Amino acid sequence: MTRIAFIGLGNMGGPMAANLLKAGYEVQVFDLSVAAVGSAVAAGAHAAASATAAVAGAQIVISMLPASRHVEGLYLGEAGILAAIEPGALVIDCSTIAPASAQKVAAAAAERGVAMIDAPVSGGTAGAAAGSLTFIVGGDADALERARPILQAMGKNIFHVGANGAGQVAKLCNNMALGVIMAVTGEALALGVAHGLDAKVLSQMMAVSTSRSWATEVCNPWPGVLDNAPASRGYSGGFGNDLMLKDLGLAAEAAMGVGASIPLGELARNLYAMNSRAGHGGLDFSSVVKLVAPGA
Ligand code: NAD
Repeated sequence: MTRIAFIGLGNMGGPMAANLLKAGYEVQVFDLSVAAVGSAVAAGAHAAASATAAVAGAQIVISMLPASRHVEGLYLGEAGILAAIEPGALVIDCSTIAPASAQKVAAAAAERGVAMIDAPVSGGTAGAAAGSLTFIVGGDADALERARPILQAMGKNIFHVGANGAGQVAKLCNNMALGVIMAVTGEALALGVAHGLDAKVLSQMMAVSTSRSWATEVCNPWPGVLDNAPASRGYSGGFGNDLMLKDLGLAAEAAMGVGASIPLGELARNLYAMNSRAGHGGLDFSSVVKLVAPGA
């Protein structure tokens, strides 16, 4: 049976690992959070004492960590797990990180005979739980074919967009658009509510009109519009404001690298930075609506 090491069991990694268990894979897990490991063990995973212990004997290694520094720290350097991964194994990094970091880790892996793909995801925590994520893959086609059955156990759509790092570039394009759309959806709802409109009715109208979007239909930023959205549970869980801020910073770096202009992306980065400074960095990113509707 294919043995998978899964490192990083947060809002996304936890439910993704659970879907691999449901599909019948043997999964060894590690996270710095004892509670996160406990939930995975309750779902049938084996707890490892360290990331290095988790990759022992694994044919597939999956990581789902917050940012570039966590991924580079996990794989590279003297304490890095690349040294412990079996040659011939395949590494799938699902974190959203800088394209250059993805390339750096993939090159170090290749030197050890370990194939690696970047496979950041879209679909949010609901998509992770439902096993309906979109995987955005950068790397060799052969490596993707080896990964495909595993990705299919966690998602519905798989896009191969280019070589190592390309998956991250495409993911940043998606999240830059998402960051702008969420911010302006919050503004639109705040404007309507200030005029006495019902946010639920306004959202239902927008969901079948020309401004329809995931921000309106799945992760609506106004409390009480959608029972399952983070906004209706105090903006807890979901996709953290500071993770969106990280992605918009990465998009800005990517734009500078090629001289692209991203005026709305830069504006959105500042909005999420303001929301973070207002003390909402750990809340779901839809809390950006609080900048224009403090009571939301
Ligand atoms: P999270 O903060 O909920 O989870 C990250 C987990 O990594 C935590 O449990 C943390 O303890 C663990 N961790 C950090 N460093 C570690 C290390 N060295 N070893 C082991 N565990 C470590 O984050 P998340 O929301 O699950 O997001 C993970 C990645 O997925 C991020 O790059 C994010 O941008 C991306 N992403 C998130 C969403 C979302 O909706 N939450 C959607 C798409 C992509």
